[in-house]
Amino acid sequence: MKKVWVLGAGQLGAMMKHAGLPLNVDVEAVAFDAPKVSLGSDDAVTAEIELWPQSAVTDQLSAHPNFVNKDVFPRLADRYTQKQLLDELSIATAPWRVVEAETTAASLYSALGDTVLLKRRTGGYDGRGQYWLKNAESTQVPEDFLNQSIAEQKIPFDEEVSLVGARDKDGNLFFYPLTLNLHLDGILMASVSPLSRLAQLQPVAESMLGKLLTSLNYVGVMAMECFRVGDQLMVNELAPRVHNSGHWTQAGASISQFEYHVRAVAGLPLAPARIKAQTVMINLIGVERNDGWLGVEGTELYWYGKEVRAGRKLGHINVCAPKQSDLCASLHQLSSLLPEPYPTVFEWVDRNLS
Ligand code: ATP
Ligand code: MG
Ligand code: MG
Repeated sequence: MKKVWVLGAGQLGAMMKHAGLPLNVDVEAVAFDAPKVSLGSDDAVTAEIELWPQSAVTDQLSAHPNFVNKDVFPRLADRYTQKQLLDELSIATAPWRVVEAETTAASLYSALGDTVLLKRRTGGYDGRGQYWLKNAESTQVPEDFLNQSIAEQKIPFDEEVSLVGARDKDGNLFFYPLTLNLHLDGILMASVSPLSRLAQLQPVAESMLGKLLTSLNYVGVMAMECFRVGDQLMVNELAPRVHNSGHWTQAGASISQFEYHVRAVAGLPLAPARIKAQTVMINLIGVERNDGWLGVEGTELYWYGKEVRAGRKLGHINVCAPKQSDLCASLHQLSSLLPEPYPTVFEWVDRNLS
């Protein structure tokens, strides 16, 4: 069978490889600085990230005729063209302006309001590459944001949700239930899905992401991060890849987001994923590994094997349980095994279950 090559060798590529194993689909994640690889003409190429540095091997992989969604990556990797796409498709998103060489803070305050978020057009993640402008403090646009960022209105959202969906090569669409996400300081800390109170937003979320997937002729998994403001959804950003807010599907769905993506890219059939039960995903950020987590019933640990650094995504834990009391009991035990600020995270989960 043909091989699936992944541009990038981080945890997302590793989890795609893991998902390919039971299908006997050989998935190989390739580091940007790796030597060139032996590519077959029938092989398929995908990516775990929307932007990659130029190197011998990234040039080789990205030039392959079977590089799936090739044209989508640059379009979504730049927030400017991503926002333009949302506007073109009339999909609600935070009001925005592009920041040019001459753009002043005053013009942004008058267009977008007194609090404005600058976001670098490319390369930002986990809330890095962002800068708040506050009229009350007369904040000016920093020099290094000129010509390379967009400005967004501050959205007073009620909460953050995401939709992860997949499209196969024949255009069939598949969606997971909406996921509720907690971000602290711009970084995802926890996700919960499904949630019955979000079910009423599912059709509108599916029609938004479905429109995007179809209009881009996209194949594979895409994630749509949204703000919920009352009963409205507004897109925050799109990720043309498997996404952290879809990690819960490894435990909570019969087909994980990684398997969907591998199947779609390899041209295998997709089917609706069965949701097993409510699932909680806890991201492990900047914490030392504690094998005690494994002693908690229901814990499914993914530890990425990276060097421990403050603020770095090092792993995640999924807990799925058909009985909510079991879910709560496991989370309670895990909570005692994680440092600050995790008590806050577990309290948030507790408040939002059901
Ligand atoms: P990711 O790791 O998800 O790729 P990122 O660095 O690309 O993150 P965003 O998702 O754009 O950044 O923003 C990070 C977080 O900042 C959001 O999840 C949200 O909590 C907050 N945020 C972003 N845009 C706005 C906005 N317009 N108004 C209010 N809060 C915002
Ligand atoms: Mg992002
Ligand atoms: Mg985001």
